[in-house]
Amino acid sequence: MKTYDIVICGAGSAGFCAAVAAARQGAKTALIEKYNTPGGILTVLGNNSIDQFNNPFINDDKMIIKGIGWEFVKRLHKDGFANIPDMDAEYQCHNQYGVKVNPIAAAKIMDDMLIESGVDLYYGQPMVDASSTDNEIESVTISTKAGLRKVKAKIFIDCSGDGDLAEFAGAEFVKGDGEGTFQPGTLRFYPSVYVDSPIIGYGDNRNHIKLDTTDSDNITKAEIYARNLIYEQMKSGQRIMATAPAVAPREGRRIAGITQLSVKDYCEGTVFDDSVCYTYWFIDIHKDNEPTYIQYIKHDKTPTIRLSAMISKDFSNFMMAGRCISSDRETNSAIRVKASCMAMGEACGTAAAIAVKSNVHVADIDIIQLKNTLTNNGAIVPGVGRTLAYNDVIN
Ligand SMILES: Cc1cc2nc3c(=O)[nH]c(=O)nc-3n(C[C@H](O)[C@H](O)[C@H](O)COP(=O)(O)OP(=O)(O)OC[C@H]3O[C@@H](n4cnc5c(N)ncnc54)[C@H](O)[C@@H]3O)c2cc1C
Repeated sequence: MKTYDIVICGAGSAGFCAAVAAARQGAKTALIEKYNTPGGILTVLGNNSIDQFNNPFINDDKMIIKGIGWEFVKRLHKDGFANIPDMDAEYQCHNQYGVKVNPIAAAKIMDDMLIESGVDLYYGQPMVDASSTDNEIESVTISTKAGLRKVKAKIFIDCSGDGDLAEFAGAEFVKGDGEGTFQPGTLRFYPSVYVDSPIIGYGDNRNHIKLDTTDSDNITKAEIYARNLIYEQMKSGQRIMATAPAVAPREGRRIAGITQLSVKDYCEGTVFDDSVCYTYWFIDIHKDNEPTYIQYIKHDKTPTIRLSAMISKDFSNFMMAGRCISSDRETNSAIRVKASCMAMGEACGTAAAIAVKSNVHVADIDIIQLKNTLTNNGAIVPGVGRTLAYNDVIN
């Protein structure tokens, strides 16, 4: 049995930043990841675009997310492994501002930053269970090459994307549309042509695979279906060399928090007292056989993410960051983009570390201390330093 201050489940965009942030604050931190590689969808499952660090429609400085996520892409860029577009360029489409990274280099830089920060890494060791009392999670169980092992912590953060820890611990969540329908997944592929750019990762494959990423039997079926689809594409002449190891999920569990992000607040760019980072993307619900449902937000609004939407309502020592945070379905389809996941991961990891240091529940930490810490570390925080023109703190 190992014991930590903070245990983070999932080393995707959110978990990576949460772990680096927590460890840099001095918390004894463990990061548990089912694959042997950090990065989640960014590196392993083949979508190598990080959207969106800017709001192209605000005046002056258009950057709305920096901090650890931005430090990461700058490090990649320095060695030629990230393509950072002009964030001030005139708007044509949202995708133009995505930072494209080489997935192999991205995973290596993630390793570097995690190790430099002092995070204990558990790669290839999926979390498979948790034990809890009425109001706290006590430990999680991970599957290792030597069998099952328990890991204890003061605070647990679910960054699994799918919200697995919530299921294992018995915390409340909602799945997909609440009636069994999920946004489709995609099996990314690596074409055997155009490998000359060090930036490019997998091919831009728009296949839509029915996937309930919270159900192992369904995952099995989805994988078999996806491989059949790719096989047909190859038979019809596409030169495909490899695919990602699994169908990438867009949607899993959304864990119930103390508050829930709503589409109304998202579209209005509401700033709350506990708003700890900005986020930017449009409402973007993919569907199986219909066009994607898109709702653009007003140009002068920059939505925010609240700390209380990253704290479970059921367990006082349970937090979440990334695409499994407490949000309605529309909001979730927007906040899931990677730069936003990175910003919330950093805020969540920092908040957890402050709670451990102050010996209080994370819901009781000093929000001003959190905002100041984040700002001092280079993150952009609503209501600190500059406010984004049109937003006012409303409660
Ligand atoms: C096909 C597709 C295209 C996309 N396109 C874009 C795009 O162009 N731009 C953009 O910004 N975003 C895009 N997204 C969205 C974005 O990639 C994800 O929403 C984002 O990666 C979520 O980050 P995360 O850290 O919450 O989760 P993930 O990246 O999913 O990371 C979760 C991590 O947790 C691990 N994990 C899961 N369960 C367990 C467990 N039980 N034990 C241990 N580890 C576990 C996973 O292996 C993974 O590493 C796309 C998503 C998909 C599926």
